[in-house]
Amino acid sequence: MVPAEKRQRTAAIVSSWDYAPAPEAKDIVKIQDRYGLFIGGKFVEPLSKQHYTTIDPAHEEPLAEVAQAGKADVARAVRAAREAYATRWSKLRPSERAKYLYRIARILQERSREFAVLESRNGGKPIRESRDVDLPLAAAHFFYYAGWADKLEYAFANRKPKPIGVAGQIIPWNFPLLMLAWKIAPALAAGNTVVLKPAETTPLTALLFCDVLRQAELPPGVVNIVTGDGRTGAELVAHSDVNKIAFTGSTEVGKAIQRALAGTGKRLTLELGGKAANVVFDDAPLDQAVEGIVNGIYFNQGHVCCAGSRLFVQESIYDAIISKLKRRMSTLRVGDPLDKNTDVGAINSKMQLDKITSLVQSGIDEGAEIYQPPCKLPERGYWFVPTVFTNVAQSYRIAQEEIFGPVLSVLTFRTPDEAVEKANNTPYGLSAGVWTEKGSRILAMAQKLKAGVVWANTYNRFDPASPFGGYKESGFGREGGLHGLEPYLAFDE
Ligand code: NAP
Ligand code: MG
Repeated sequence: MVPAEKRQRTAAIVSSWDYAPAPEAKDIVKIQDRYGLFIGGKFVEPLSKQHYTTIDPAHEEPLAEVAQAGKADVARAVRAAREAYATRWSKLRPSERAKYLYRIARILQERSREFAVLESRNGGKPIRESRDVDLPLAAAHFFYYAGWADKLEYAFANRKPKPIGVAGQIIPWNFPLLMLAWKIAPALAAGNTVVLKPAETTPLTALLFCDVLRQAELPPGVVNIVTGDGRTGAELVAHSDVNKIAFTGSTEVGKAIQRALAGTGKRLTLELGGKAANVVFDDAPLDQAVEGIVNGIYFNQGHVCCAGSRLFVQESIYDAIISKLKRRMSTLRVGDPLDKNTDVGAINSKMQLDKITSLVQSGIDEGAEIYQPPCKLPERGYWFVPTVFTNVAQSYRIAQEEIFGPVLSVLTFRTPDEAVEKANNTPYGLSAGVWTEKGSRILAMAQKLKAGVVWANTYNRFDPASPFGGYKESGFGREGGLHGLEPYLAFDE
């Protein structure tokens, strides 16, 4: 037995310990001053002659000048993709296509530190996450779909799959390289060529990826990258020679794209927003559940479409969960994305910070109770303290609208039926979490929750073999797994 006095002394020392800075070196990745567009296997100057500055949101410092592709640039990229499709890629034996995908996957693994540092600098996410989540998963997607490239006939027995042509792909800023992998890997495995537009604020890892393509000796024109803002995306959607649009982003833009494509015969998949319910029953292992709650909402600053942003707690364990959650939140380290100890990095942009700030203000105005742990934020850059709201009514904006930031709304329930009813009371249906010891309850909840993915006793788990996608206003179509190939294939039936 340790005497009480000594125990107290030790506890005081331990709680005063702090982490030494553990910054990842920046110089592993070379950022160019200025980038062109990647079309037909090489970088070209934009015909638009326009560039914009992309920044590091943690320091508000410029990183590079990036091209703003206009209508003629998008047309040029689509031409390159069409030519590569007709003359090279669709003619290639599937096992040869697979070799390129395997090569890309291996090069991504080899260069993963470089990509992780660049992802964290351009997007603000902690290096621990870009290193341990974004990069391994991006490589895993290429490995996984490489495996399917020469097995499509077996995957879709008696259905004679064939590629559809040129795919236009538009991605958001929260997982830039990972979303690129989710889009490009299945499209190429199925025999299509692509024109991809990264998000305006996070183009740099997509531009570095062009170097991987050159290293892998991918035939020119199979992948084309056009940078720019929403206008570039709209040009890609409008182009008449694109056979399919794959979009990940906000529900608002998704709806506009669906309207623009109506009647054109172009194929479309939409991966949109979410407002996921994370439901904790009174028989759940509470400490594990608290870890899952924290991971569910504070991972990647809450810039996650499937974030567990609405927490439903069974009334009998409410006090215990809230006190454990607050204690855990006080240990989160917010700051430099390149520091290996950082848990919560920078908000991706000024625009997103303003959106989070105004929704949080609406929560206060509508009468919810706010808690933020004591936290020292860096002076420059875009930051938001991990936040939890209690005393939230279902009608409040913070319980209805996607905040896409580190902000959790807590609600309560008494019975499983009430939990289901409240959890489904949203226009979205992307994901959900259930925490309980009972297997039968997990299965019952998974059946009743209107969500594309339901995690049980875990949260934010991804695997390339597992399909991901939404119901209702969260979109349609699936990415990942066998399901993720179907949107890129036509069938002779
Ligand atoms: P966003 O504004 O919808 O942008 C997504 C992409 O579309 C960006 O590349 C964007 O360019 C482009 N874009 C904007 N306007 C366009 C238009 N009129 N036509 C064609 N393309 C256009 O969304 P965001 O602000 O980047 O990302 C946050 C949202 O995405 C959240 O609502 C989140 O839930 C959702 N999201 C969903 C998933 C999913 O898998 N379901 C994954 C990640 C994010 P700019 O960069 O220039 O705006
Ligand atoms: Mg946007």
